[in-house]
Amino acid sequence: MLNIVLFGPPGAGKGTQSQKLIEKYGLIHLSTGDLLRSEIAGGTALGLEAKKLMDQGLLVPDAVVIGMIDSKLNANKEAAGFIFDGFPRTIAQAEALDALLAGHDEDISCMLSLRVTEEELTKRLLLRGKNSGRPDDQDESIIRKRIHEYESKTAAVAGYYEKQDKLREIEGIGAIDSIFAALCAEIEA
Ligand code: AMP
Repeated sequence: MLNIVLFGPPGAGKGTQSQKLIEKYGLIHLSTGDLLRSEIAGGTALGLEAKKLMDQGLLVPDAVVIGMIDSKLNANKEAAGFIFDGFPRTIAQAEALDALLAGHDEDISCMLSLRVTEEELTKRLLLRGKNSGRPDDQDESIIRKRIHEYESKTAAVAGYYEKQDKLREIEGIGAIDSIFAALCAEIEA
């Protein structure tokens, strides 16, 4: 299996690049943000709880997202591989992901990390808020909170994969297709 963690702050382009990667490599896209938004849309108890945190730009508890990933891995045992988008976001999630994959005799192939400046991220997220209607993209203070959550809890996850010699950094500003080409070059290397 080809198992990729697509990493970077909110607005780095993970969703856009994931769509292109799943098409090219036939992978299954596992976005915990998308899974949570579909729980919210379905009006489930989990969705209602998660929404309170998401609307404030805070992370939802590790156990919630780990449980979601666990059930998706079990439901897709024949997959060619997975793209993890927006997960893991804490060291505890990264450790849990390694343990879950080990249970399927699998592991992470690499982490591809998109590098984008905070100024560019804020600009992109506010623009996305106008087009997508995502509540957590509408307000600059919530966006800053999400970037702060990234810096305080998530950025360290790159170090976790660096220790396993799996971290690859890619410039995330530029044309979508040239960023995609750089990602593919890393995967094929
Ligand atoms: P995203 O679509 O990845 O930007 O995620 C939107 C929101 O969902 C985040 O701001 C968090 O509140 C929540 N979320 C998504 N993925 C995770 C995760 N792996 N751990 C904790 N919270 C998450």
